[in-house]
Amino acid sequence: MSVIDRPDTIAERLDDKALFRTDSFIGGEWVAGDATTEVFNPANGQVIAEVADVGEAGAIKAVAAATAAFETWKKVSPFERSKILMKWNQLILEAQSDLAKLITLEMGKTYREAHGEVVYGASFVEWSAEEAKRIHGETLDTPFPGSRGWTIRQPVGVVGCITPWNFPVAMITRKCAPALAAGCTMVIKPAPETPLSALALAELAKRAGFPDGVVNVICGDAPAIGGVLTSSPDVRMVGFTGSTAVGKLLMKQAASTVKRVALELGGNAPFIVMDDADIEKAADGIIASKFRVSGQTCVSANRLIVQPKVADQLVAALEARISKLKPGDGFASDSDLGPLIHMGAVERVDALVQQAREAGAKIVTGGKRLDSELGGSFYAPTLIDGGTAAMDVACNEIFGPIASIYRVETEEDIIKLANDTPYGLAAYIYTRDVGRVHRLSEGIEYGMIGINAPMVGAASTPFGGMKESGIGREGGKWGVEEFTELKYVLLGGVD
Ligand code: NAP
Repeated sequence: MSVIDRPDTIAERLDDKALFRTDSFIGGEWVAGDATTEVFNPANGQVIAEVADVGEAGAIKAVAAATAAFETWKKVSPFERSKILMKWNQLILEAQSDLAKLITLEMGKTYREAHGEVVYGASFVEWSAEEAKRIHGETLDTPFPGSRGWTIRQPVGVVGCITPWNFPVAMITRKCAPALAAGCTMVIKPAPETPLSALALAELAKRAGFPDGVVNVICGDAPAIGGVLTSSPDVRMVGFTGSTAVGKLLMKQAASTVKRVALELGGNAPFIVMDDADIEKAADGIIASKFRVSGQTCVSANRLIVQPKVADQLVAALEARISKLKPGDGFASDSDLGPLIHMGAVERVDALVQQAREAGAKIVTGGKRLDSELGGSFYAPTLIDGGTAAMDVACNEIFGPIASIYRVETEEDIIKLANDTPYGLAAYIYTRDVGRVHRLSEGIEYGMIGINAPMVGAASTPFGGMKESGIGREGGKWGVEEFTELKYVLLGGVD
């Protein structure tokens, strides 16, 4: 049974408030489990779906299906793989509205943002379809007389893929599309909050023509499924997007079989505004970076590091913009910010704000829960001034609509504060001084840096972090290479 069997019924089900009921997708079939997990709409707390929990047994079955399918999929010509991926891309884009509805329903982001996510997610499928035809080795000079050397790139094998809830479509396609292009087969475990989008992608993959077992999506107990994916010798690689704490755990588990890991983990992005910057543009950039998806992205601005000369001007520009942001149900056309993923997130974010308040920071606007007012897990968009490096809001990944200002004078201290975190994912710098562009972008330890640009991710560019923000890159040619083994061959006796 699939969630998108009849895409035309999604809107009706929303109107009827009827439950989605769905199984996991293993070896090309829909497979029931012993138990079910409920899925909630964070905008109102209502149960919207019951999803089969296939647990450890499902994971073992899915690994077996992916292992069998790998033997044939790896031999399918890259041109044929490319065609199937292109078809998947087409089907995803044709189902854009239905997928966007599922995303808004299960994770809360606005319907407009959800549409954007589907297009972003599909772009990795399109890019990987094109890239499938360009995975090749090189010829090598060697010191050995009468010999020739070359490299070939082959698919890694079965890949286990564990994803978070904040981008239910894109976090799957960003891993799966390049892996499938390279000739790998996949076992995907989506977040329990957002299984519907993942299962819909599986149905569309089936329709696109991926052979049975190439794409498997399983839902259920995370440690049990993660245990199978990290310990099975048949799984050659684990790709994980999520928190640093879980990433570290999976890395430890994967060590037992020396499995390759690709980790896209948490962030604590500095957004640096220098005193020569265009402050209105910087304020627009902060709104885009900080309040998109209600601040629940790994690349969201986490600390606004501002030179004192322009700090008051920036605070005023931000306050004016934030006061116009409207939180509300993601399906309402005038909503700018959807809910947080659940009430636990509201409580966590509120604790960060209250700790900053008690430590002497000023709450310029917001700083309160809106759950009782709006009936879901909503929090007011918030601006904090007078932040210090010791505050919880500076040391932790906020993952909510809270912006806090840190006034810092010198370039040296700005670089020091920006790097004063175990994370190193994304950073932003607003300046018009070309010398500052180079000194700052070379001085800060981040995998992705936007200069006068609040969003950096694209299918053609390398996405990933330094330090405890992860290992590896997704996107571009680098994203495909992650899923290949580089093999070196030497042929002697030629001359
Ligand atoms: P999370 O708690 O780490 O969960 C991510 C996934 O891991 C979920 O599917 C979760 O399933 C699973 N998981 C948890 N414990 C596990 C275990 N022991 N074994 C196997 N799987 C396990 O993260 P989240 O709260 O969903 O997402 C937010 C985090 O993701 C933030 O830190 C954010 O920065 C990060 N993120 C990073 C990127 C990036 O590209 N760098 C992109 C998006 C998000 P259960 O919930 O069932 O446990």
